[in-house]
Amino acid sequence: MEMSPLLERITDAIAPLRGSGEVADYIPALARVAPDRFGIGVAEVDGGVHGAGDWETPFSMQSISKVFTLAMVLAEGDDTLWRRVGREPSGNPFNSLVQLEHERGIPRNPFINAGALAVTDQLISLTGDAVAALLEFLRTESANPALPVDDEVAISERANADRNLALAHFMASYGNMRNPVDEVIDQYVRQCSIAMSCRDLAQAGLFLARHGVRRDGTGHLSRSQAKRINAIMLTCGTYDAAGEFAYHVGIPGKSGVGGGILAIVPGRCAVAVWSPGLDRRGNSVAGVAALDHFTTLTGWSVF
Ligand code: GLU
Repeated sequence: MEMSPLLERITDAIAPLRGSGEVADYIPALARVAPDRFGIGVAEVDGGVHGAGDWETPFSMQSISKVFTLAMVLAEGDDTLWRRVGREPSGNPFNSLVQLEHERGIPRNPFINAGALAVTDQLISLTGDAVAALLEFLRTESANPALPVDDEVAISERANADRNLALAHFMASYGNMRNPVDEVIDQYVRQCSIAMSCRDLAQAGLFLARHGVRRDGTGHLSRSQAKRINAIMLTCGTYDAAGEFAYHVGIPGKSGVGGGILAIVPGRCAVAVWSPGLDRRGNSVAGVAALDHFTTLTGWSVF
């Protein structure tokens, strides 16, 4: 399949949707991004990398970072994570406190904020510095040694972290937090504030299409672990709209409130899209539409 013309075609097709939706404004630094930006990038397992639109413009990866921190904890061989985090879709907003109380401090899955905080907590215990370990991995896999934490976004998010602090303290009250809450939140907001382009993200996520194998051919995850992460992305990766996403797009995907989505076609490619306008669930409007076109035109849905 000729990938570059396909991506240009998709970019043209979604053009009327550019600027649709609302830019996330609960993190003030994110609210300043122009809503009509759009990019799409594809990294293929045979090494090809293609893109269209603003695919080389960095944006805030936000919750997409949760896929990589989860993979890193599992890559350390630490399955004890599953004693403190579940694997079911939440069907609730990603920062819900109510559900956490019902479930006595055990987050429903690793991609809602509470679950991701537990993952970061565990990664701090495993590595000493979760963000440094994450950055090293992302820089190597994306072949972009300059990938930065965007300090402006991190400071803005840290100053508006009351809800995440509440979730972390709540888990701590149930004994489900190992490191000091402030340290976990500091690391979490920094991991979310890493700036990556669609090109960077597609390349960094390619190990999930390669059944766990890294850029240099070494194993990051076993085939079975990669399969499981893709499954959690499919069932839990797009907030409380994972059913809709599976219905329309039909491949594993993880979105972030910066407007990015990383999607995986196992055995073939990783696709990253970015457009900052979000629907009411928090997923990029033009990004979801582009992925819908992508799987329709390629026939590469997993279903
Ligand atoms: N850092 C954001 C938060 O914790 C991530 C949200 C997201 O992208 O889903 O609110």
